[in-house]
Amino acid sequence: MRMTHATMYARVLAGDTACNGRFFFGVTTTGIYCLPACKARKPKPENVRFFPTCEAARATGLRACKKCHPDDFARGADPVLESIETLVAEVRAQPAAFADARALVRRSGFGPTRVFELFRQHYHATPADLLLRARLDAAKQKLLDGDAPLLAIAGDVGFESPSVFHEHFRRLNGLTPAAYRDLRSAQSFAIILPVDFLLGYLRRALSRDIHSLTERLTGDTYTAAVQLSSGPSVLTLRLGTAVIQVEFSTGSAVEIHALVIGLLGLEQDAAAFARLAKKLGLARLVAGRAGLRINQTPSVFEGLLWSIIGQQINLPFACQLRRRLVERAGTPLGDGLSAPPAPAAVAALSPDDLLPLQFSRQKAGYVIQTARLVAEGKLDLVALRSLSATRAERTLLAIRGLGPWSVNYLMMRALGFADCVPLGDTGVTSGLQSLLKLEVRPDIDATKRLMAVFSPARSLATAHLWQLPQPLPA
Ligand SMILES: [Zn+2]
Repeated sequence: MRMTHATMYARVLAGDTACNGRFFFGVTTTGIYCLPACKARKPKPENVRFFPTCEAARATGLRACKKCHPDDFARGADPVLESIETLVAEVRAQPAAFADARALVRRSGFGPTRVFELFRQHYHATPADLLLRARLDAAKQKLLDGDAPLLAIAGDVGFESPSVFHEHFRRLNGLTPAAYRDLRSAQSFAIILPVDFLLGYLRRALSRDIHSLTERLTGDTYTAAVQLSSGPSVLTLRLGTAVIQVEFSTGSAVEIHALVIGLLGLEQDAAAFARLAKKLGLARLVAGRAGLRINQTPSVFEGLLWSIIGQQINLPFACQLRRRLVERAGTPLGDGLSAPPAPAAVAALSPDDLLPLQFSRQKAGYVIQTARLVAEGKLDLVALRSLSATRAERTLLAIRGLGPWSVNYLMMRALGFADCVPLGDTGVTSGLQSLLKLEVRPDIDATKRLMAVFSPARSLATAHLWQLPQPLPA
């Protein structure tokens, strides 16, 4: 919709940030052009001219304002991404308003092929999958918020049949809708595992640092000290082949459930990835581990610490640095277990505290600076999960100390994004070399090209490549 001169001028007077990027205005008396929300003194209407782009403003001899930096903004503006983000926000707010993926495509205003491509690129998902997850998330909220009958909830969020609702809910959440509602007052609960679940790989992931201070696997009992929004808690999982029993010392069962689902990777479509690999003639990649899932870190902050600590060093040394950080800033909970450090505890450290623990000065600085961003509320880690992958990636790449490897590692291990490749990762490059029998290890460009066939499931491809040289677990 075109805005009139009067409307645009009113938006400028209002300092409307939502109009930034939609148009620019120049002031003939000062020779400057600005964003609509510029904080500089408001010009008189007779001195204002409007432009669709910075280029158009410059062409008339105007210069960019040094206060609002219209050129910088214009470079980052991304109207196509924004329209997809708006559409996804609508879907999540009112999933029942979309009968199916076709309705979503129609609403987008793009052609079907383009919409699929945009969803793949920006949300690592198909429109149908995003819609399904939006329905299930809305249902979860309704289950917790009141006592509406399950049948009504299924319909309210757009499921055609209660059995379809029930089946998808159970598959991605490990329990029935009724059992999920019971979490409101539960002190323990049980997770039903999918038939293809690989307990051996879970055990391997849960015992990857046998000296860990935060977690311990003894027989079939896994104990972990975790940081919840309410503070530290001790989580106990009793591992069975079909069911996992979950107990916890304190905190909300709903929050614990989300953590455990992430730890088990239940929301990932492992079966679809195995089918894709076979279709590509790469059955060896998934042989013996078709149900492999990426175990999400217990909190996003832990994933963030890992993604910085793990840069440029091997796994045993990374585990050692992490243990020392837990000793220095974690919360001892007795019985030899400590909860991992909360952001505020790391933010309170100085680099000199970490140098004796064998952190490099640079790594110490990055760990502490990022923890400060989180502790001061300047980086909302949980909110990153609901952003588009593109926006989450841009937000993280803007942080000092987080390069493409760390950002993609964090996105796949802690934020649940499905189509990430930690570029430059030696496990990925040596995995590709072995899988595809390449003479030389692929460089960054070759890695990008070779991994493209796995899109939008490159995170699982990465996880399989990491496991490729390992023997199958017992
Ligand atoms: Zn300005």
